[in-house]
Amino acid sequence: MATAAASSKRPAVDSLDVRPAKKTHWSQGLLTSMNDPNLVVESDDRIVIIKDKYPKARYHFLVIPKLNVPNLKSLKREQSELLRYMETRARMLAVNYPQVEFRYGYHAIPSMSQLHLHMISQDFDSPCLKTKRHWNSFNTRYFLESADVIRCLEERGMVVTMTPIAGEKLLDQPLKCHKCVYSPTKYAQTQAALV
Ligand code: AMP
Repeated sequence: MATAAASSKRPAVDSLDVRPAKKTHWSQGLLTSMNDPNLVVESDDRIVIIKDKYPKARYHFLVIPKLNVPNLKSLKREQSELLRYMETRARMLAVNYPQVEFRYGYHAIPSMSQLHLHMISQDFDSPCLKTKRHWNSFNTRYFLESADVIRCLEERGMVVTMTPIAGEKLLDQPLKCHKCVYSPTKYAQTQAALV
């Protein structure tokens, strides 16, 4: 009797175990990927470098601080050293790819939570690069160079990005080659021209 009474007050352990894991919002995905051994390339006590899960070029990595830094706007002046360190670690990784040209920077209006520095090769040869917005996010002023972000933080004490309307305009602007003056009307033509 005593056992039955006690167990009626306790939640059934078995039923708790089979409850589906609480789902996190997709925008928190980097926090999960930071611990995914299939994606982690390097890590130390301050940062993790992962492979971008949906790479927009042959080589596309994200450098993520372990410290909780939601985004560029939440950065304080004294954290410019962290940004310098993130870029340095990215450039150290690039030494393994001597033939590859990389750019290092941030999306002005990121979709994913937790600060992340993009390290992306300039071939943009990837099946995940599917839309004009993808292209423009890396090939317009929407892509903020790491060095410019650091300078802004040190000089102004904050990172100034852009309004969502200005960001949308950049993502929606006509396609333009990042190496020449070619400006196709269709994405497929861009791909053909770059081969
Ligand atoms: P953004 O927030 O715009 O700077 O870009 C986020 C980047 O994260 C994109 O390049 C995505 O391909 C990538 N991404 C999205 N979800 C994940 C994930 N769960 N793990 C790793 N990379 C991701």
